Amino acid sequence: MASRPPSIDALARSIADVGLPHALLVEAARSAVAAGEPAEARAMAEETALALLRPVVNATGVLLHTNLGRAPLGAHSPARPANVELDLATGSRGSRQSHVAPLLARLTGAEDAIVVNNGAAAVLLVLAALAASRPVVVSRGELVEIGGGFRVPEVMNSSGAHLVEVGTTNRTRLADYRRALDASPDVALVLKVHQSNYRIVGFTESVSVRELSQLPVPLVVDLGSGLLDSTTPWLEGRPPAWLAEEPAVRQSLRAGAALVTFSGDKLFGGPQAGVIAGRRELVARCARHALARAVRPGGLVLSALQDVALAYLRRDASSIPFWRMATSPVDEIRERAAVVAEKVGSPASVTACSSVPGAGSAPGQAIPSFGVAVAGDLLAPLRRCDTPVIARVQDGRTICDLRSVDPSDDGVLADGLARAVAVGPRDDRLSGPASGATGRSRRSSGDTPPRATETR
Ligand SMILES: *Cc1c(COP(=O)(O)O)cnc(C)c1O
Repeated sequence: MASRPPSIDALARSIADVGLPHALLVEAARSAVAAGEPAEARAMAEETALALLRPVVNATGVLLHTNLGRAPLGAHSPARPANVELDLATGSRGSRQSHVAPLLARLTGAEDAIVVNNGAAAVLLVLAALAASRPVVVSRGELVEIGGGFRVPEVMNSSGAHLVEVGTTNRTRLADYRRALDASPDVALVLKVHQSNYRIVGFTESVSVRELSQLPVPLVVDLGSGLLDSTTPWLEGRPPAWLAEEPAVRQSLRAGAALVTFSGDKLFGGPQAGVIAGRRELVARCARHALARAVRPGGLVLSALQDVALAYLRRDASSIPFWRMATSPVDEIRERAAVVAEKVGSPASVTACSSVPGAGSAPGQAIPSFGVAVAGDLLAPLRRCDTPVIARVQDGRTICDLRSVDPSDDGVLADGLARAVAVGPRDDRLSGPASGATGRSRRSSGDTPPRATETR
């Protein structure tokens, strides 16, 4: 402290309203002075602030946006520990798999379940625990890459299992699996991978879970999306049309899958997590493997997951943000859009648009929605609002889709849009990339809104 030149300290103090800890302001001030541009200190501090995590308004219409952490959840955090590994009945050491995992088993009809950090970890653990140094048979049509670099052949490799490919990209038959099993008697598993974010159309053939489960080795189904039950008992009325082709956990287990793996933060609507559910003895082998310790979830994740599991058991979709967004009546969304457009004023108008589930779920399926449109590309100024608004540009207009916005944020969205309109499209003070809903990330996340180019 003592040796800091007063000018740096004074400069840091003069930009205190940026809201960063003093040490980070000092760093910005020092960099600016070193660059001979002391006036840039504020801009540098603002860049630092922009790089931090913060809540945003998701107006992209991609309900589960991988770049925005997929399923949104409310925060709830009194500063108290939880009985993560304490058995409250006996006072002795318990298991972190004893709270939410049985609820998940019950919801899916599985004998047992465990929770890990994410879907990729679930697949990795299953392969490592049940198939290390042994062959695993997979259809060539399912050797997919899922958003952010989950590649089935690479995960297989990392687990120590040996990939045996069968069939062709577009057609795989039961006889192909049979031949592979006959050729190598040591096959540990058949793995069926949900293609998630893409679809093969035309002259195609694949083998159902029911047929594959007749083979003499256990069938593992990597479902990814985590739709619990295709009859959606937690929703009033019939399952929504956009779910029609999405395979579900309960039905896959009932059709004979020995294990199913899925993510917590896709159609399940919970925090980032992975679930392994199915036959008790196979789940137990996964839980005993050394990797299980490396991919175990923390108490915050487990308690958030438990809240969602309890909501499903109560059949209360209204307390699961994803299902609330996904099933919100389109007329209500239009009314909200009208209120927001009116608040923003003249350049804003209500527009019909389409939302998508996102996170590689139900590819090609759109959910009718309404948004607020303004001419031009306002993505950059919207990202720089106090509560950043993430929107998309389509046909030369900025569109804020109200389906992915929580109604309690409509006012924040209106304020942000009004500010962005006032600032105008050219807010390149800090020369951030003006394209891309989330700026830097251009990697495919499996989130492809219909006809929009900005939120991949
Ligand atoms: C999303 C997905 C994964 C990866 O899950 P993460 O939770 O993102 O790690 C694996 N397999 C399938 C089929 C998926 O859809």
